[in-house]
This record gives sequence, structure tokens and C-alpha cells, in this order.
Amino acid sequence: MVTEVVSAVLQTSFLGDMVLTTPLLERLAREGPVHVVATPANAGVLANHPAVASVIVFDKRRSDAGWRGFARVAARLRAVGASRAFLAQGSLRTAALALMARIPVRIGFDRSAGRLLYTRRVHYRAEWHHAARLWSLATAADAPHSESAPALRPSLYPGATEDAQVDGLLQQAGLDIDTPLIALAPGSVWATKRWPHYPDLAAALLQQLPSAAAGARLVVIGAASDAPLAAAIAERAHATQGPPVIDATGALSLLGSAALLARCRVLVTNDSAPLHLASAMNTPTVALFGPTVPSLGFGPLAERQAVLGVHLPCRPCHAHGPQQCPLGHWDCMRTMAPDTVLRSVHTLTQR
Ligand code: SF4
Repeated sequence: MVTEVVSAVLQTSFLGDMVLTTPLLERLAREGPVHVVATPANAGVLANHPAVASVIVFDKRRSDAGWRGFARVAARLRAVGASRAFLAQGSLRTAALALMARIPVRIGFDRSAGRLLYTRRVHYRAEWHHAARLWSLATAADAPHSESAPALRPSLYPGATEDAQVDGLLQQAGLDIDTPLIALAPGSVWATKRWPHYPDLAAALLQQLPSAAAGARLVVIGAASDAPLAAAIAERAHATQGPPVIDATGALSLLGSAALLARCRVLVTNDSAPLHLASAMNTPTVALFGPTVPSLGFGPLAERQAVLGVHLPCRPCHAHGPQQCPLGHWDCMRTMAPDTVLRSVHTLTQR
């Protein structure tokens, strides 16, 4: 008889990190239930995921801030009865949470801030994709250490609710639900990662749609705060007298955005969360990298993909992307030409 092992995975980083944690969740779910500690913003993206037994929300900045909130979440985590915790997010706080939940085995990376509270430390493979790095936490538990990075793709499971969200968006725009779509994701938390030429790309696309996406409509995805970027794209598209751009910013849940991406012929995105949602849905992806580079571990994992970046000695200048170019010229994004991006869109949409 095989004994089930109950695992807890603590991942309270950004949305992209949560998406890239899903191969680890799948790996652990082969051995027993997996409970995930997530931020309120990211918890919903794990809905319907077959590898996830439950999600424990840790609102570390609001309702669970302070000692009492921390103790409350630790009690909830303790109640799931995990025998091992995987510290996918490496802070001292999450390590202390696992300790306070009395989880005896605590596994994390050897360079994480919380490493002194871990019972096993796994070498952080800076040269690997982050999905593979996170997955490697499981190999420390019961498998020989892998020398080469495995090929992994994250997974998400939008359901009927999310499909209905997307149908509603298209119907509101007066479109059939099977209208071909091309997605643009112009936003990023970090200002220098936002390619400034999406409006020009939209205008060029509307004039030269790929033949495999004839009749396609452009849809802008992102958070509600990305609405001004969507408005600038829509305005430029309007000036070309092309069909209206669909503004989906702030209109869909995270998983709803994944459902939308699953229907898109291609996504053009910065190095930001939609890139990882597209990897999970295997949507062809044109990824635009400026101050960061894919070798930091966050490149696209869709089967069909193109990574674009300008060759500059200053790249990468930051692990995430600074809010302002430290050299003042921002050439990494400013000089990336819309024509180059347009060519990649055409290439990726060829059947
Ligand atoms: S320093 Fe170089 S890589 Fe960094 S934002 Fe400026 S142009 Fe881009």
C-alpha cells in the first residue's frame, strides 16, 4: 500500500511565479494532496486545478497583517496536516509560517532569505527556467538531483465560468464567440518593461493581418490599471479606420484571461504575467524583452514562440526592470521596431 504524503506549497510572489509553480504542484500531487498558500490576488488562478487540494489565502498586507493574522493563517495551514512544505517563495516570513504550522520538513532554495529555517536546501539553478527551478524543489524530497533542466510547461484550468466571461466580452462587442483574435498585453508593473509601440503595432496589424488570422480582431488584455494603454491602442486603431479594438483590461478574472488567451491565435506581450498565462494555455507568444532577458528564467514556454530584444551592452540592467532607465535613453524598448514585431506575429500565425 502506498502511503500518501501531504504537501504544502507556499507561493506568495507575483502571478507569473504562481503560474510557473504549477509543474511543481503536478509533480507533488502524484504522491498525495497538495495545499497551496497564495495571495488573495493569485488564489483564483488555481481554481479547477486538479493538482490542488485546497488554497489557503494569506493576505499578508491587509486582513492577515500583524501577528494575529499570521497566527491565524499558520493555524489553517497546520490543519491540513502537511508533512512537508515547499517554500516556492523564499522570504523569512513564509519560512516562519511553515515553522509555526509545525510542518517538520521544510524545503527551499539555498539562496533564499528564509533558508536558515529550512530543513533541506536545494541549489538554486540560476541558469534554469524558473518553472524548472521550482520543480526541482520536489526532486530534493525523493528523487536524484537532475543535472539538466526538464522541459516543463505550466498548466491552468479555466472552466465554464471563465468561458462564459469570454463569450460575454465578445457578445458585448457584437462579435461571434468564434471570432479569430490577436491579443496584445501592453502592461507591466515595471515601467521600463512596457514596450511603447503597441499603438503603432495595432495600426500595422489592422492593415496587414496575417492570412491565417483573416478577419481577426485585436483584443487588449491586462489589469484595470492598463486601461489607458488600451485606450491609446484603440485610438490609434480608430485612426486607421480599422475595426474597433476590444478592451478586455479589468474585464476578466485571471483565469478568464487565460480562457481568452486559449482562443487567441497569438499574443504579443512584454515580460509580464500574460506571457506566463499564454505559456499555460500554449498560445503562440511574441515576447518583448527590454531591461530583462529570458535567461533570467522567465521566458515563454509555449510551443510556438518568438523572443525579441535589442542587442545592448546594458541588458539586462535589473532582475525585474527598473521604473526608469538608469541610462536615461531606454533604447532597449524604444528602438524595438514595430515592423520586427509584426514579422514575428506573421511567422507565428502561419499554419
Ligand atoms: S539601462 Fe539599458 S536595459 Fe536598462 S532600461 Fe536602460 S536601455 Fe534598457
